[in-house]
Amino acid sequence: MIKKFQFREEAGWSHADEILLCLDTGSWRVERPVLNKEKCNYCGLCALFCPTQCMVDRDDHFEPNLAFCKGCGICANECPRKAFRMRKEGDA
Ligand code: SF4
Ligand code: SF4
Repeated sequence: MIKKFQFREEAGWSHADEILLCLDTGSWRVERPVLNKEKCNYCGLCALFCPTQCMVDRDDHFEPNLAFCKGCGICANECPRKAFRMRKEGDA
């Protein structure tokens, strides 16, 4: 049975494989983070700060699961290497 609120951390954070992310928050996003992999050193801060915990660990970088990314830009702000750029939805 799935428990409704069960956290591995001390705060109310969720994980991409757990119930708090069972909402498609990406459908109303107006911007998306786009990674420049050349700049990323895989420090993990973007994944730590992402409020929906939607960053997916790709072993040498992180990328947002866009079904859940809200486009808030926190990952881009917190990245010490400025590896994410926020791009408007619909732009090439
Ligand atoms: S915070 Fe920036 S440098 Fe660190 S893993 Fe994320 S994108 Fe890469
Ligand atoms: S824009 Fe916001 S929700 Fe999307 S990956 Fe970055 S921190 Fe997470």
